[in-house]
Amino acid sequence: MYIVVSISQCEMISNDMSKPFTTKKFVNDAINKFNHKFNYSKVSYVNANTLVTIICPDHGEFKISPWKFLNSKHGCKACAVKVMASKQKELTKKKLEELKKINDALYEYPECHFNGIKDKIPVQCKKHGIFHVTVDHHLHGVGCKKCADERKTGGYNLQWFDADTNRKSLPGILYIIEVYNDSERFIKIGITKNSVSKRYNNSPFKKYQYKIIYQFYDSLYRCFLKEEEIKRLFKEYLYSPKHKFHHTESFTLGALPQILELYEITQPFSPSSLTSI
Ligand SMILES: [Zn+2]
Ligand SMILES: [Zn+2]
Repeated sequence: MYIVVSISQCEMISNDMSKPFTTKKFVNDAINKFNHKFNYSKVSYVNANTLVTIICPDHGEFKISPWKFLNSKHGCKACAVKVMASKQKELTKKKLEELKKINDALYEYPECHFNGIKDKIPVQCKKHGIFHVTVDHHLHGVGCKKCADERKTGGYNLQWFDADTNRKSLPGILYIIEVYNDSERFIKIGITKNSVSKRYNNSPFKKYQYKIIYQFYDSLYRCFLKEEEIKRLFKEYLYSPKHKFHHTESFTLGALPQILELYEITQPFSPSSLTSI
């Protein structure tokens, strides 16, 4: 193979008697660099900056200065674009695989066909459903907006627990309280790292009083999962208090007997306390 090319070079060089050495040297340097990828039959070397014609087996003829050609990584621009594109695709795919591992608890990726990092992909938040985000943004930590909103209000979520697994074993309390004033009565379910009274006595709102119905002591994480379960099972009982306070969910009193039954809570209303919140 090499010999055949060498003969054709000799013929070409003999046709170009004006610059035999420089054309030959350029072609040899080019072969040293790019092996036998390109066809140099149309090269007529004048100087380092005067364009020469080179033929790419994949993309045809192109003109380039000898200097630029020998200092480029791929020789042909179209080949370079192709290599870069496939490298980027490979890289983003690899990164998305990493993301999947990291975000396994939070997100699922129903379809993840994309050509570049600027493409939007659908991501399934396990809590809030599908949202769309560019691969680029997602790789930089942009996730579910609803989860982010919840974080802002101080609520616990899977992302918060996953950020530091030690948080999962923190002691916690799942509580059910009955909240009331002269015109309203409803129940509220939440979790706290502190006692319920600490949780509510810090509240800036004093519109309601409350009575503890049930407190469940476990790891904060298991409390969180139980709270999520109650929210899911009893969403038809969701209630919006007239006075906004805290981010935890409120339910109508009608949900209470079923919640107590589900968790086999036989002795509710103890200990009870009356406090303004
Ligand atoms: Zn090419
Ligand atoms: Zn979410």
